[in-house]
Amino acid sequence: MNNSPTAAQTVRTTLAEKPVTVLKGVGPKVQEKLARLHIETVQDVLFHLPLRYQDRTRITALGSLSPGMEAVVDVEVKVADVIYRRRRSLLCKVADGTGSLTLRFFHFSKAQQENLKPGTRLRCFGEARRGPAGLEMVHPEYTLLSANMDVDDSLTAIYPTTDGLHQLTWRKLTDQALALLSSNRVLQDWMPASVLEGYGFPDLRQALMTVHRPQPDEDLAALADGMHPANRRLAFEELIAHRLGLLAMRAKTRRLEAAPMQVEGKLATAFIGNLPFDPTAAQARVIAEINTDLNAAEPMLRLVQGDVGAGKTVVAAAAAARAVEAGFQVAVMAPTEILAEQHLLNFSAWFEALGVSVGWLSGKMTAKQRRDSLAAVAAGTDQIVVGTHALFQDDVVFHRLGLTIIDEQHRFGVHQRLALRNKGADGDLTPHQLIMTATPIPRTLAMTAYADLDCSVIDELPPGRKPVTTVAVATSRRAEIIERVRRAIGEGRQVYWVCTLIEESDALQAQAAEDTANVLIEALPEYSIALVHGRMKAKEKDLVMQAFKNREVDLLVATTVIEVGVDVPNASLMIIENAERLGLSQLHQLRGRVGRGSAESSCVLVYQPPLSQTARERIAIMRETNDGFVIAERDLEIRGAGELLGTRQTGLAGFRIADLARDDDLLDPVSEAAALIVEQHPEAVAPLIKRWIGEEKREYGGV
Ligand code: ADP
Ligand code: MG
Repeated sequence: MNNSPTAAQTVRTTLAEKPVTVLKGVGPKVQEKLARLHIETVQDVLFHLPLRYQDRTRITALGSLSPGMEAVVDVEVKVADVIYRRRRSLLCKVADGTGSLTLRFFHFSKAQQENLKPGTRLRCFGEARRGPAGLEMVHPEYTLLSANMDVDDSLTAIYPTTDGLHQLTWRKLTDQALALLSSNRVLQDWMPASVLEGYGFPDLRQALMTVHRPQPDEDLAALADGMHPANRRLAFEELIAHRLGLLAMRAKTRRLEAAPMQVEGKLATAFIGNLPFDPTAAQARVIAEINTDLNAAEPMLRLVQGDVGAGKTVVAAAAAARAVEAGFQVAVMAPTEILAEQHLLNFSAWFEALGVSVGWLSGKMTAKQRRDSLAAVAAGTDQIVVGTHALFQDDVVFHRLGLTIIDEQHRFGVHQRLALRNKGADGDLTPHQLIMTATPIPRTLAMTAYADLDCSVIDELPPGRKPVTTVAVATSRRAEIIERVRRAIGEGRQVYWVCTLIEESDALQAQAAEDTANVLIEALPEYSIALVHGRMKAKEKDLVMQAFKNREVDLLVATTVIEVGVDVPNASLMIIENAERLGLSQLHQLRGRVGRGSAESSCVLVYQPPLSQTARERIAIMRETNDGFVIAERDLEIRGAGELLGTRQTGLAGFRIADLARDDDLLDPVSEAAALIVEQHPEAVAPLIKRWIGEEKREYGGV
């Protein structure tokens, strides 16, 4: 059968569908290299934007050339010499009547050497640098100058690339793609004209032409910085596409059914009545928001943000109580063994007093323990099941899962969020989902990566908390630090000493912590010192943590396993080693382990000088503020969104053009425009998502 398209069909094919192989010069090899950059269609070529630009549109006089400038110069060779200092090199002294310049070649052929004779006229392009005898260009591009030679009429785009794809190839590919774009205009502009006009943005064709082939009078600096209306328009469209993806996902959730949990709330009331404190106003408000969601017949998808120590566990437990009262099972998942264990302790203490059974599932159980646990979960005898990722393995069958609680969400990505939701689905019913994070999500991210969730914020700490005083001390002053530890313990306080290593390896971390513990045991023989690290068995860790909680241990030497969730209010001093290597949010999480009781608390950041600029900034921020929101905002500025969200979410934060820090002023317009598109141009939704997010993430786009 002949499948080749007819002429009419070819014309109708949009650039979004045309494979790159329609372009000249794209054989199987180039195609494969392009595929590595996720470039499969002509549209993808057009959305592969330049990194920077070179100005080859005018000739610069040597007299006005300065170091660091990239320029085209027309010159005449005055002297050409091969010299043998250190390296053999060819030096050409050239001049143009306004000044002079040296061209330096380390690699050159016999023919080149013969060409570059005194009297030869050249056109060169290169970057001028300061050399031993005035300005020079190292390995400039050059051609012999002939009469009436043209300069380029647009700025030269330099593309991000991969091995074996040269700039010349990019130029040829984009030339052809742009020619297709201007000839038959089959790249649909999905952005409503009214929206673009409102912000003074160009249409898609214009924007793409400008970024690929800027005219000489364009603002090059603005283009390079992504601040030109052409870049901004593309960033705007990209952000809109992401938002549409999340909205689609959200809409999909809304179409699912969940069990409404319309109960009196006796169990939750009893639970709260048993607590030794009253919930804060913020906790009460968030509990009420959750109750409203749980009453509905569509699945809750709510993110609770609350700084470390804000009391998220109590809020989660109140939700669990409601689900249990309604006759459903609850799964509580934490990202680490230690944190899951801590939840097990809390939930067991709270719920067993109320006659509710709490079960446990972790990756580190024996086969027999696991079998027993699985049976209890499947039979529904465990009404609340606490655990790690192990909760969502294939062989786990829930009895009547009505609510999933995920703690410390920043470690889980959108995809995991979806997987978890699907996992718990029971027939037509989807469990409600409550996600808790101690990493406050800056508004920029809340509006992009988390737009599919409802958000609640516990914006108040329990009464009596005092801010943690933070100091930075060079590691050479270790003796003073140990003195400080001695004093704190002498006053009846407990201390954390956190050993961090950049290596992810548990073994190395454990070793470092062990070494430190030995040094400290020697230095502080009068006190009880214990060690906890990721290589210990869950039971051992548990014993140590319990001993620390019971004040049988004065000083706990730990790896970052204690980063999240550990709660010992009497601990009021924390030493963090290698603080310069940690990110802001990790430092904030760690520091959040102290300042939980009524005593004045402090945190000592121990660092190895010299500090890099970023490390200095981070430490300064830690000293300035205890506010997790401020810290998260600054973290976003310093690191960029991709890192803040973690590698697992690069698909979301890894924008091609948009930059959340730079383009945050676009976010309000983005949500307005996205709403308008959904409302008035629904046909544009799927193509926009496809253009910017691609096929492989369709599940996330929900289309
Ligand atoms: P996080 O939000 O960091 O998970 P937790 O839930 O671990 O915080 O709570 C931190 C500590 O504060 C715990 O010891 C908890 O019992 C206590 N707490 C929670 N809510 C209140 C409250 N309303 N008043 C006093 N203490 C509270
Ligand atoms: Mg917590």
